[in-house]
Amino acid sequence: MNLKSRFFDLIQEDKGILSYEEILREMLFVIQNFIQSKELTFFNLHDCNKEMYVVASTSEEAEAVEFSPHFNSEEFYEYVLDKSIIRQPIPFSNFEKYDLLLPMRRGNEQLGYIAIKDVSKEIPFSDPILEKIGEECSKFLLKAKGICEVIFEEKRYKQLFRVTEKFHSSMDMDAVLGEIIFTLQEVYPSFTYYLMLSHDNNNHANLPIKDLEYDSENISAMQAYVTGAIQLEDSVQEQKSILYAPLKGKQGVYGVLQVIAPNTRAFPNNEVEFITLLANTAGSALENAQLYQQSRKLIADLQLINETTRRLNSDLRLTETINFMTGQILTSFEAEEVGFVLVSENFEQIKVLKGSTDFFFSKDAEQYLQYIAKKIKNEKDSLFLGDLILENVSSVYRSVMAVPMVQTDVIMGFALVLHRLPYHFSFETFKLMQSLIHHSTLAFSNSMLREELEKMVITDHLTKLHSRNFLNENIHRSMSEDAFGTFILIDIDNFKQINDTYGHQVGDEVLIQVASIIHDNIRDTDIGARWGGEELAIYLPRIPLHVAVTIAERLVAKVNELTAPRITISCGVSYWTKESDDNFTKLFKRADQALYLAKETGKNKVVVQEDEELIS
Ligand code: GH3
Ligand code: MG
Ligand code: MG
Repeated sequence: MNLKSRFFDLIQEDKGILSYEEILREMLFVIQNFIQSKELTFFNLHDCNKEMYVVASTSEEAEAVEFSPHFNSEEFYEYVLDKSIIRQPIPFSNFEKYDLLLPMRRGNEQLGYIAIKDVSKEIPFSDPILEKIGEECSKFLLKAKGICEVIFEEKRYKQLFRVTEKFHSSMDMDAVLGEIIFTLQEVYPSFTYYLMLSHDNNNHANLPIKDLEYDSENISAMQAYVTGAIQLEDSVQEQKSILYAPLKGKQGVYGVLQVIAPNTRAFPNNEVEFITLLANTAGSALENAQLYQQSRKLIADLQLINETTRRLNSDLRLTETINFMTGQILTSFEAEEVGFVLVSENFEQIKVLKGSTDFFFSKDAEQYLQYIAKKIKNEKDSLFLGDLILENVSSVYRSVMAVPMVQTDVIMGFALVLHRLPYHFSFETFKLMQSLIHHSTLAFSNSMLREELEKMVITDHLTKLHSRNFLNENIHRSMSEDAFGTFILIDIDNFKQINDTYGHQVGDEVLIQVASIIHDNIRDTDIGARWGGEELAIYLPRIPLHVAVTIAERLVAKVNELTAPRITISCGVSYWTKESDDNFTKLFKRADQALYLAKETGKNKVVVQEDEELIS
């Protein structure tokens, strides 16, 4: 009765129900106290294979003891079969030090033994009393086990419910994986868990993740992955049991959960069921999360392409276009170097376009450019290299993506993206890069064509005078063909003030007035041009200096007279003849110096180049 009431205390609700092992240990302490013995240890008899192991003891040392490998469970079983109390000597290695074995039974079924060391000599217990104690312990043991199981089961299914709820509220792969591990650790704290994931390229902070692909030694894991069925691996020698549960969704298996249960020879059945349930739930959750992440990624990719093409079609200059693209690729792809390269027909010439990152203008870049250009020339296709090694370069870029820019079946160049780390870019990134370049090639060639066109245009849009390009070309030609010529550089005086006073529009009109005065006062063979901004220029082929000076002076007077609002101009005049060793740059410089002098000495005037020798 005494013992019973003490047992009852152990499972009082307010004590907080402990685990089965803990209740068992408490029970042993109660008996120890009752019969005044030195140590009590409970040996469990595993029901299917009749193996023995220590479950709990009043001594930590005894709990840690490994079972002797020489222990013959069948012999032992024979020995104890119909004994109600087993006293010394007990001829089995692990029991030699104990005085007494108290069998625990359910009917005829053996559950285990309480081994007792040094029963106090003062309180002698007769066999019938000991038998009775054994009976009560067995009853209590079964009750406690039942209660623990119910509570445990309830706790597990609560967990499963909670975790399912959480899975379906999360679209984050890491959160789902973390939740699986967390739940399992709560339910079975003594087990060890690993997630074995197939083609996984994310970093999962703090998650116990193993790679499934490279772990080909692990046949059971692979088996679970391939068949989608639970695999068990029991290892008697290592005293552990491993379970592989596939994380299975509707469309496939996403990985394998490895559960290692120590100190057990076979994975308990109801645990297998629970873990299977959890793994299946996790599989569908993973599938959802993965599909969600994929769609998010696709949307982001489309947004990038959309945004890029929109910007490219908004009338950018070539360099701006490339600057923009370079920026997009650097940030979106986490690239280190981005280059845009033009190639001539047959790849004879390679030109890096402005707006590429600085590296591409360095010496080291040449090898990369040559290597990639050659490959693209031969293969006429994009390149995706994860571990490129070139000889004799000091800057090492291992990851390479190169995509040709193709316009009407002709490769006009390629975009090249580099990173120092090997295998830095994912295949998805490569695909995205291809569509990005594909979509922007048209905008590129438009920008290039426009710039070509601008060079060819010979009249200035605002003033209708010739373009500077046209003027330059004509001066060059004249200097090689003619005997002499004159150059007049014209700058409007205090033009900024006109803009500030009347606004830019009026400024433009005045500029047009000056241009038309020039137009009216020169001949068709002369070239009046807009040099840039509010600076204009006239080249007079085969016109001697004194005639040019007269023309310039007439212009100064007419502008002063005819413009409204009234403005004035200053002119610098320079001159060349075949006899002098002259060139265009020098000619311009002399006119510019003369103009500077005109401005310095009061404006509204003509100043001729200082070199007197050339004046005739
Ligand atoms: P200075 O007598 O020394 O030449 O004085 P400035 O004010 O003319 O010289 P500055 O170079 O300081 O200013 C030139 C101004 O001409 C500034 C710029 O806003 C204006 N300008 C240049 N190109 C154009 C144009 O195409 N249209 C208009 N409206 N203004 C222009
Ligand atoms: Mg100026
Ligand atoms: Mg000016």
